[in-house]
Amino acid sequence: MKDEQAWAQLQQRCQGCGACGLRKERKNLVFGQGNPFAKVLMIVPAPTVAGGRQLLGGAEGTLFWELLSLGGITPEQVYVSSVVKCPVPKGRKALHLEQNTCLPWLRAQTKLLSPKVIVCLGQESLSVIMGEELSMAQCHGQWFIRRGVEMMGMYHPEDLLQDQTLRPQGFADIKSLEQKMKQLRMTSNK
Ligand code: SF4
Repeated sequence: MKDEQAWAQLQQRCQGCGACGLRKERKNLVFGQGNPFAKVLMIVPAPTVAGGRQLLGGAEGTLFWELLSLGGITPEQVYVSSVVKCPVPKGRKALHLEQNTCLPWLRAQTKLLSPKVIVCLGQESLSVIMGEELSMAQCHGQWFIRRGVEMMGMYHPEDLLQDQTLRPQGFADIKSLEQKMKQLRMTSNK
C-alpha cells in the first residue's frame, strides 16, 4: 500500500511537470507501462505520438510483447519507462537538455522499483543511461553491472521493424534476458 501511494504521488507530481520545452506540445504524458512492482526495468528514449498513451504502442508494441512472450517473459515481469516522459515531436530526438531535465523522474521511478535488471531499448537510451555514446551494433546483448544492477542494451522494436535482418539479434537478446532472470532466480515479480 505504501509503495502504491508512493507511485501515485510520483506520477501526480510528474503530470504537473513543465520543466522543459516538451511540455508545450504535450497532449499526453506517458509515465510508464507495465507492472510497477516488476524487477525488470526497460527504458525507451521517449513516448512516441503513435504509441498514444503507451510507451510501446502500435506495431512496435505488438512486436515487443511478442518477442518477450517468445522468450518466456510475461508482461507482468517488466516495467517500461522512458528517458523523457513527454512525447518528442516527430522527426527529431530529445535534446540533451530535455533528457537531462527529465532524468530525475526516471531516477525516482528506478528508486521505487529497485530493479534487479535494466534493459535499455535502443542506442539513445543506452547512451544516456551509460553516460557515453555507445553503438548498439557493438554493445547489444552485452551485460554490464552498474551499482549492483545488471544492465543490457538491445535494439528498440522500431529498429527491428525498420530492419528485419536485426530480428534474430533482438530475439537472442531476449533469450539472454531470460537466462539472466533465471540466473537471478526471478521466476515471478520478485
Ligand atoms: S519531458 Fe520531462 S522534464 Fe520535460 S516537461 Fe515532460 S516530464 Fe517535465
